[in-house]
Amino acid sequence: MAETDDIRAGEQAVTFPDRVDAAIIFIGRIHTPWSERKQCPRQGRRDGPICRVEIFEPWVEALDGIETYQQIELLYWLDRSRRDLVIQNPAHDDRIRGTFSLRSPLRPNPIGTSIVTLAERDGAFLMVRGLDCLDGTPLVDVKPDRCAYTPLALPK
Ligand code: SAM
Repeated sequence: MAETDDIRAGEQAVTFPDRVDAAIIFIGRIHTPWSERKQCPRQGRRDGPICRVEIFEPWVEALDGIETYQQIELLYWLDRSRRDLVIQNPAHDDRIRGTFSLRSPLRPNPIGTSIVTLAERDGAFLMVRGLDCLDGTPLVDVKPDRCAYTPLALPK
């Protein structure tokens, strides 16, 4: 995985489109112990450190019921990534591959996802284990883990 925005041997960048097809809003911010990419784990671990997920107003009320889940899914915006690479040369493996065959943070829409363990909710903050992102990473969404989630009633 790239620790810098430099192009590595064999990598290819494209001209990034100047249009925007949709807009998102950040619903919060993730606080982690890591300030540099090389300090982050490549993927979160269930026994990783507790990280604090801050939800901004007016979205705090949307957390109602979240405490009932042990596992939740977080979607976040890997905001310090370049977005124009189509071919990448990951540092951890010697195969040069297309962006969509990697979980690299460098992608056109740099959305990261992690299934995390919810240790505690304290008002607007969720304490979770299992993250891999930099301190200050913007939060895009919170969902119950798709395996744990059972609809209360199926639509007729
Ligand atoms: N778990 C997510 C996924 O699979 O979608 C992200 C995986 S990505 C391989 C995780 C890596 O992205 C970290 O190890 C770090 O190098 C990098 N990273 C973390 N936070 C970032 C951020 N805010 N901006 C850019 N890169 C970030």
